[in-house]
Amino acid sequence: MNGDQTLGPCPLCDRPLIPGASVNQHHLIPRTFGGRDAFWIHKVCHSKIHSLLSERELLKRYHTWPALRSHPEIDKFIRWVAKREPEFNSPNRRARSRRR
Ligand SMILES: [Zn+2]
Ligand SMILES: [Zn+2]
Repeated sequence: MNGDQTLGPCPLCDRPLIPGASVNQHHLIPRTFGGRDAFWIHKVCHSKIHSLLSERELLKRYHTWPALRSHPEIDKFIRWVAKREPEFNSPNRRARSRRR
């Protein structure tokens, strides 16, 4: 329909990015370390990255999409999130830690 607002597939999970509340931007090089390039990514994917990796780890080892996707927990997450709606947002944001 209107092609001017397509953000393309998510570089992490490869599902479509729908402009709006479900998307966010990630800096492969953390801004704290001078990173400027921001990439559109799902909010769920984004919070997954930051819940697993510190900025230092991102800088040293996970500053490329293939590196991020090879992280075992992210790999699991990608397979899980692949079945969700493109605009799916984490159901338990702000929920108290419900660990298993
Ligand atoms: Zn994604
Ligand atoms: Zn980020």
